[in-house]
Amino acid sequence: MARYKDAVCRLCRREGMKLFLKGAKCFSDKCPVEKRNFAPGQHGKDRKAKVVGYGLQLREKQKTKRIYFTQEGQFRNYFEKAARTKGVTGAMLLQQLERRLDSVVYRLGFGMSRRQARQLVRHGHVAVDGRKVNIPSYEVSVGEEIAIRENSRKLPILEQAKEFASHQNAPTWLEIDRDNYKGRVLALPKREDIPLPVNEQLIVELYSK
Ligand code: SF4
Repeated sequence: MARYKDAVCRLCRREGMKLFLKGAKCFSDKCPVEKRNFAPGQHGKDRKAKVVGYGLQLREKQKTKRIYFTQEGQFRNYFEKAARTKGVTGAMLLQQLERRLDSVVYRLGFGMSRRQARQLVRHGHVAVDGRKVNIPSYEVSVGEEIAIRENSRKLPILEQAKEFASHQNAPTWLEIDRDNYKGRVLALPKREDIPLPVNEQLIVELYSK
């Protein structure tokens, strides 16, 4: 499946809520959800039907997939792995998504959005335990150190991200040393550590049909 390249704000408008995909803009009055909170497209304003049942489960899955910028097949794999893992399947699904390296870089405050964090990883600016890792879906483990590589620390976006992150709540499952652009995984995130407007049980119901 082709990667989504259109304006990401349309995704939020489609879901009818902020998915926080663009960093600082999401917290400003320039956010399109603030100005035009209806579905994108010519007939967006007319689509007011209440979503129930299967439609609701589908929207919840699409929303979560979009927040983490994962594709359908990859998302399904995360679900299947979560279903095989001991614990509540929905919570395990979110835990796996949070363990993605791009998501952890975002949570550490090195990118203002998961998208920006993904770019940092892809472009080789991130190291795990001192070794360059440029795979956004790399799954971090407890004890690993995630850092911006020495030669990349002068990137202007890091300074902006640091300022942005200073206004956000730091996750308790990560140790963060923003001044030195590094952090460590202290524990795997539990559901209550993942502040997402998602009802993961609906995704479990969708895939369990
Ligand atoms: Fe979504 Fe952020 Fe765009 Fe608002 S600014 S529509 S929250 S991505």
